[in-house]
Amino acid sequence: MTIKKKIKIFILRSGLYSYLFTAINFKRKIAEHLSYLNLFFSAHANNKRTYKIYTSDVLPDILNFQVASICNANCIFCGYGTTLKEKKGFMNFVTFKKALDEYIALGGKKILFAPVYGDSLLDPGLGDKLEYVSKLKEIAQIGIITNGIALTKNNIYKSLIDNKINDIGISLADFDEKAYQEVYRVEAYKELMRGIEDLLSYHAQQNSLTNITFHLRSPRQVRQIVESDDFIKYIKPYLGDHIDIQFMYSYDNWGGLIKKEDLRGLMKLRGIPKFRKMSCDKLFDFCVLFDGSVRLCACRTKGTQFDELIIGNIHTENLVGMLGKAASIRLKFMENDLPPVCRNCSFYTAGKKF
Ligand code: SF4
Ligand code: SF4
Repeated sequence: MTIKKKIKIFILRSGLYSYLFTAINFKRKIAEHLSYLNLFFSAHANNKRTYKIYTSDVLPDILNFQVASICNANCIFCGYGTTLKEKKGFMNFVTFKKALDEYIALGGKKILFAPVYGDSLLDPGLGDKLEYVSKLKEIAQIGIITNGIALTKNNIYKSLIDNKINDIGISLADFDEKAYQEVYRVEAYKELMRGIEDLLSYHAQQNSLTNITFHLRSPRQVRQIVESDDFIKYIKPYLGDHIDIQFMYSYDNWGGLIKKEDLRGLMKLRGIPKFRKMSCDKLFDFCVLFDGSVRLCACRTKGTQFDELIIGNIHTENLVGMLGKAASIRLKFMENDLPPVCRNCSFYTAGKKF
C-alpha cells in the first residue's frame, strides 16, 4: 500500500475527517488551477513535435466498450436523460470480438467497460465477454466502471472476481439513501448496497487482487459520508490494499447540458477553459458503441452519441482507417473548427504526455 493511501485509510478510520475534506477541497482547487495553467502552456506549445503527434494516427492506450447503452439511473450531473429517445441496445458478442481482435492485432493491451452512457452490468452477455477477454494473454488490463445497481443480477459480481478483472470502479452518490436518491434519482439504494455487500465479502473470501474503488458523488461533506451507518457497516471493514474510496466535488457541464442549478449541496460546476488551442485529449479515446459504431471521446455527448465524433463502424471499416479520421478531427480542432459537442464543454483537457 502506498504511504498516501495508508494516511487516507488512517484518517478514515480515526475520525479526522474534516482534515480529509479540507485536503480534498484544497487538492481540487490546486488541480483546477494547475489544469488551467497546463492548458495555457499547452495552448502555446504548438511546437512541431506536439503538433505532429496530435495530427498523426495514434492507437488509443485503452479501448472503451459500451456494451449497454441503457442506464438504470438518471444522475443529476449526467446528460443521459437527454438521450432517452435515441436508439438503445446491448452489444452482441460478434461485435465485441471483432473490435477486440482488431485492437489486439494493432498492439492494444488495455480495455475498459466504460460507456459514454449506460451501465455495462445490464448487458445480459457481459459474463461471456468477461470470460473471453480474461483468457487473452495479449490483454494486460481489464477495467469496468459501473453504478453497481445490477451487481447481484445473475451473480455478475462473482463473474467480475472470478475472471480477475483488474479494476472495478463503482460510482454512487453516498452511503445514505436520501442523499443517494437526490443525486441518482432512482430508488435503487437498497439493491445497490446488497450488491456491494455480496461483492466485498466474495472479494475477501477469494483473496482477490481486483482493485475496487468507490467513487462518491455526494452533495454532503466527507465527514457526513464516513459517519453514515452504512459506510461503517459495509465499507469500512474492507478498506485496505485493494479497496479504496474517492470523493468528487467538481463536475463538468456535459457540453453545456448541466447547469449550476442542477447540482446539489457541495457539488460545484467547473468553468469552461479559455485556452483551447490544442485538441482535447479525449479525442485520442475510442469507444466502441453497442452497435459497433466507433466514437471519439468515451465521456461526453450532447443529446446524442451518434454525432460528429463517430468515425466509423467496426462492421464496415477497420480500426486502422479510423485512426486517420481521429487525427483529422484533432487537426480541425486545432484550426478552431471544434465539433459542436466540444464547443461549450468544461470537461476539456489538454497536455497529453507521450
Ligand atoms: S452518470 Fe452513469 S449511472 Fe449516472 S445516469 Fe449517467 S450513465 Fe447512468
Ligand atoms: S471537449 Fe468535451 S466533448 Fe469534446 S472531446 Fe473533450 S471531453 Fe469530449
